[in-house]
Amino acid sequence: MKKKIETVCVQGGYSPKNGEPRQIPIVQSTTFKYDTSEDMGKLFDLEASGYFYTRLANPTNDAVAAKICQLEGGSAAMLTSSGQAANFYAVFNIANCGDHVIASSSIYGGTYNLFAVTMKKMGVDFTFVSPDCTEEELNAAFKANTKAVFGEMIANPALTVLDIEKFAKAAHAHGVPLIVDNTFATPVNCRPIEWGADIVTHSTTKYMDGHGATVGGCIVDSGKFDWLKYAEKFPGLCTPDDSYHGIIYAEKFGLGGAFITKATSQLMRDFGSIQSPQNAFLLNLGLESLHVRVKRHCENAQAVAEFLAQNDKVSWVRYCGLPGDKYHALAEKYLPNGSCGVVSFGVKGGRKAAEKYMKNLKVFAIETHVADARSCCLHPASATHRQMNDEELIAAGVSPDLVRMSCGIENAQDLIDDIAQALACV
Ligand SMILES: *Cc1c(COP(=O)(O)O)cnc(C)c1O
Repeated sequence: MKKKIETVCVQGGYSPKNGEPRQIPIVQSTTFKYDTSEDMGKLFDLEASGYFYTRLANPTNDAVAAKICQLEGGSAAMLTSSGQAANFYAVFNIANCGDHVIASSSIYGGTYNLFAVTMKKMGVDFTFVSPDCTEEELNAAFKANTKAVFGEMIANPALTVLDIEKFAKAAHAHGVPLIVDNTFATPVNCRPIEWGADIVTHSTTKYMDGHGATVGGCIVDSGKFDWLKYAEKFPGLCTPDDSYHGIIYAEKFGLGGAFITKATSQLMRDFGSIQSPQNAFLLNLGLESLHVRVKRHCENAQAVAEFLAQNDKVSWVRYCGLPGDKYHALAEKYLPNGSCGVVSFGVKGGRKAAEKYMKNLKVFAIETHVADARSCCLHPASATHRQMNDEELIAAGVSPDLVRMSCGIENAQDLIDDIAQALACV
């Protein structure tokens, strides 16, 4: 029986046998013991499955990754130490020096920096397209060496909604996968694989953990992209890996296992951005209540957005749950049960007024964080996006007066009252 999302949040990924611990055990061990060298050799050859070193695999991490895999409807998944590591691995697993990737311009500032600065130094070239581009504009961005398309389901902090089907159609027409960062929507509100995404990434630091306790990331593969059909584009998956006994990932592990096995046995082996088992345990506690919290986050954000929309100190509000929002129609299609707890708006009077408003908030705390049970807020132009010039800010959908309100799971009226008194101070 296929379990519904609420049941998977609570019970997915781990099924204890008779007499085993009810809660996922924290396997706080770097290494694992074997009786013979032959036994261990089989693991190194990827001939047998088992654990030998936590950088490559750990039972606690595997159980939590399996839950997220089930939530997203994927074929395989892995945890990483952060969302940054997840997005880096997801892209670098298929795009190397000399390759090209198309990304939505409306993405998290850290991801933009990773792509436009750091990965560019590594020889991977990016073209950024507006999430609202036409199909023609999107198709025109492809080059012979394009290896992937990347977008955020709900962009942080611009709150644009990705038209997944439009991006998936273009990616597939050019024989490359679509990678979707689903951090803000979470699989409770949207499962991008159901709409054509091939690989899904998460900063589990946000709603999945949900309590501001652990930084983490996750990559989920749909198992649907046919690497072998486009073998000339993806030599890393379709030709022998000399660093791993000549294994051909797509042949040995099939479409369902190739991507994650390669990312683990090459990228995790060499870069080592593993999530600690302790953090994976805490992440799992968050996942157990994800469906309950996300619903409350969305209800509170909707109430806050509606309040802001009728306040005369506010110049604009961006929340796709508002009927007048530019992304409302896309949200109705892809996010029928709600979007996220984050609302952006502009304070009349620009940068100065925004700073004054934020200083007077009492329930919302100023933090470089979102998607926490506790309400928080941020002025991106002076924090997360400060490396961008005004032109880049606007392309990323972040105007200088933008304030990002991350509505927690407190009482909605308390949140509104706090915003009202802070706006009155402006
Ligand atoms: C926070 C965030 C990231 C980066 O994740 P970390 O866990 O902070 O490394 C990536 N993408 C999105 C959409 C995010 O919100």
